[in-house]
Amino acid sequence: MSTPLYEQQSLKIYNSISSEKETFTSITPGRIGLYVCGPTVYSDVHLGNCRTFISFDLIFRYLKHLGYKVRYVRNITDAGHLENDADAGEDKISKKARLEQLEPMEIVQKYTVGFHTILKQFNNLPPSIEPTATGHILEQIETIKTIIENGFAYVVNGSVYFDVVKFNKSNDYGKLSGRNLEDMINNSRTLAGQDEKRNPQDFALWKKAEPVHIMRWPSPWGDGFPGWHLECTVMSRKYLGDTFDIHGGGMDLKFPHHECEIAQGEAACGCSPVNYWMHANMLTLNGKKMSKSTGNTLLPQEIFSGKNDILTKSFKPTVVRFFILQAHYRSIMDFSNDALEASEKGFNKLMEAIKSIETITPSKSTSEEFIIEAWKQRCYEAMNDDFNSPILISHLFEAVKFINNLKENKAKITSTDLEVLKTTLDAFVFDVLGLQANEEAGSDLSEKLDGAIELLIEMRKEARANKNFALSDQIRDTLFEQGIQLKDGREGTTYSY
Ligand code: AMP
Ligand code: ZN
Repeated sequence: MSTPLYEQQSLKIYNSISSEKETFTSITPGRIGLYVCGPTVYSDVHLGNCRTFISFDLIFRYLKHLGYKVRYVRNITDAGHLENDADAGEDKISKKARLEQLEPMEIVQKYTVGFHTILKQFNNLPPSIEPTATGHILEQIETIKTIIENGFAYVVNGSVYFDVVKFNKSNDYGKLSGRNLEDMINNSRTLAGQDEKRNPQDFALWKKAEPVHIMRWPSPWGDGFPGWHLECTVMSRKYLGDTFDIHGGGMDLKFPHHECEIAQGEAACGCSPVNYWMHANMLTLNGKKMSKSTGNTLLPQEIFSGKNDILTKSFKPTVVRFFILQAHYRSIMDFSNDALEASEKGFNKLMEAIKSIETITPSKSTSEEFIIEAWKQRCYEAMNDDFNSPILISHLFEAVKFINNLKENKAKITSTDLEVLKTTLDAFVFDVLGLQANEEAGSDLSEKLDGAIELLIEMRKEARANKNFALSDQIRDTLFEQGIQLKDGREGTTYSY
């Protein structure tokens, strides 16, 4: 048997808890447990959310490429996440259910399906397990009991709170986010509605449900619901063990969410839950974090359809993915029309070069300026250096330049080297970066569909001009049955899916 790739390559991961790049070793040789915090399914995911999930898809893909068997767990938060990420206020899902006059689980279903559809369009691989908070209420109750038994939580009036001050006596609360509990206490003022806590830094493990609260479960402390941070501790532990390899999420989850996960894990099992903490940086729009709460968002569908106020044209999902991967996952990335247009040009150049490899005739020798094996190793080194996709992409463009020289007979290559060039490009471009060639991404088809709809809109306009309303209505209604809605406006007719 040949040596697996992960034994030939030395992977370094920037560990947020040590703030250093560390050589990666998995707990079990050849296997990796990876947990990533998933979405709270109460609204459409915006491109910022997608950036984080694409970043971890790149990581998942590269670990698999190295030959690891990866168990990738990414949860769906469908209960317990309150407004403002706080311990008081309305549940985000219940609130949306109230506003839309739907059952909370209808909200959950609607936005979970939407989330999956978008990630599939971006060619993200599905996780190995996608557990939900509501599917693990019993396990969460058991963990709370253990934390109480271990002396790190207290019950007040039907709610259970984690005792941060007590925990900090034997452990270090704040080690991930670099915060100091004393400073936090000195800088905080008690917030209204939080007075049943011994200390404002304490956080809810279980919240008593007020009579109006619809998402509720029975527990030893009365009817209630679990605190937001608990589900990730419980589900990662259930599927990956007390201590597992990698935990990821967006940078904004470092505190309090991940800090609280560490505290809960340590309080429940007496061991550190995670070996490597990874945090993906934010996508910004007009220099500000893309965020649902401020309304500074762009939805993937608005980019794919071109129906938005920011872009001059539509862009395919795979081009947007390429754009995202052109920044390192730990760098802040700003979204703009110009950047996306530049990415599209680069993407097309890359795809054309890969396509044209087939037309190259091998020679008896390879030009000295391009040493295939050294180039291949540089590609690995880029990814081994904390998944540095922009550096990898710059190496891929060295190959593009070489391929273009080959096409113009300014360079030559042996058949063996040509094969290595082709398989290495395929591996990095399609398997690791997860990009899709134009045909595969279905762009031709969607362009043809756009053309066909435009034609029908034109025919409908003519029918109306001729007062043939039966035909114009038939066109509108038949398109609607197919999920295409026409909208008549002052500037003509537009459509949406
Ligand atoms: P949420 O559903 O709000 O919990 O967010 C889901 C994921 O998206 C989390 O990992 C967040 O950290 C991440 N996220 C939210 N906003 C952004 C952004 N502007 N850029 C990148 N990731 C984000
Ligand atoms: Zn989480």
